[in-house]
Amino acid sequence: MIKFEDALVEVLAHTKELERERLPITEACGRILREDIASPFDMPPFTNSAMDGFAVKYEDIKDASYDNPVELEIAGISDTGNGNKMKVNTGEAVKLFTGSLLPSGADTVVPVEYTEEREGKVLIYRSFKKGSNIREKGEEIRKGEILLRKGTDITPYEIGLLAQINRVHVWVNSKPRVAIISTGDELTEIGTCTEGDGKIISSNNYMLKALLERVGAETVHLGIVKDRKDDISEALSGYSRFDMVITTGGMSKGEKDYVKQIATELGIDIRFHGVLIKPAKPVAFGIFGDGGVFFGLPGNPVSTAVAFDLLVYPALRKMMGAIKVFPERIKARLTRDFFRKSSDRKEFLRVKVWFEDKEYLCTPLEKQGSHMLTSLVEGNAYAIVDIGVREIKAGEYLEVIRFK
Ligand code: AMP
Ligand code: MG
Repeated sequence: MIKFEDALVEVLAHTKELERERLPITEACGRILREDIASPFDMPPFTNSAMDGFAVKYEDIKDASYDNPVELEIAGISDTGNGNKMKVNTGEAVKLFTGSLLPSGADTVVPVEYTEEREGKVLIYRSFKKGSNIREKGEEIRKGEILLRKGTDITPYEIGLLAQINRVHVWVNSKPRVAIISTGDELTEIGTCTEGDGKIISSNNYMLKALLERVGAETVHLGIVKDRKDDISEALSGYSRFDMVITTGGMSKGEKDYVKQIATELGIDIRFHGVLIKPAKPVAFGIFGDGGVFFGLPGNPVSTAVAFDLLVYPALRKMMGAIKVFPERIKARLTRDFFRKSSDRKEFLRVKVWFEDKEYLCTPLEKQGSHMLTSLVEGNAYAIVDIGVREIKAGEYLEVIRFK
């Protein structure tokens, strides 16, 4: 048995980044960037107007008011998308629109709602500070500046920025290819179970597929296999075709728990089996080939989920080249007393966390059994209770990992 922290170190030490690939930005959302990206030009690329209105010289309009409007000659129009640079002389204004190139000589834009056009002239009804309503060339981004770092998650906002700087393709991580195998004599396919016949619908594979796809992996379910050595061996034998193989069930000390033995016989190097955590204690981790990883997860659905979120997720993120591999932790205040009899494991309590009066609060769910998936549906976070801690009083702070 090893401690959770040591298990995590072991997992990350043996997980490698996958190959990269080049994709059009339209297909890159959800991937992780595998290059530093510098801006090829200043942003904004030219000084332009932030409003529809008139480009003027500040000196001309500084005393304008409703009682004493300033009259200026309209020297022309600076249309959007038009690169022809116009000029504003003293006593003149140039009509323009949001995004129009700022005419030379102008230093201020007066929004159209404070003006009135009259036969080739414009009345200015209000004064504005010098430089108002102007977006300066390069005020947001300088040419050559690194905008996005290798390891960044590409979200819709990164896609927008990439398009803004004229990027058509980017280097990203390739998707981890992950195989799932469900083991258990009692398991049956969804849609085939009759109530009370001793069978259990194999649900873990559906949850895992969704968890894996949410992180950005490609999955294949290799099927439900019986607790028979030959069947497990057959299902597991093609493991080397994948970046990661996850089994569920058959990891405990029971008579029919053969997964570890078969994995070892097939050449998977099991690095640990058993971690001092609750739930998911019997979790195993192994390695194969050049960077392949194996996770043997316990079959109880909550154990499967917890082992995934705490150990498999960081491994996937590292494979994908992410800077941020760990789920975020926040501090939350417990709303009622917590007590446990045994404190020999680090416990990941399923809690509901919410924000109220400037801080996070959390309440453990009643049904904490590792077979009770409702705790993950009603809950939204794991509160961490360290080894040696038996009691936590209401009002004390806990570290909490949100899983949704
Ligand atoms: P095991 O880890 O094989 O001892 O299984 C522990 C518990 O998890 C048992 O009650 C199993 O029926 C249940 N279980 C195992 N595999 C699955 C699965 N694929 N889907 C849902 N429950 C499962
Ligand atoms: Mg079993």
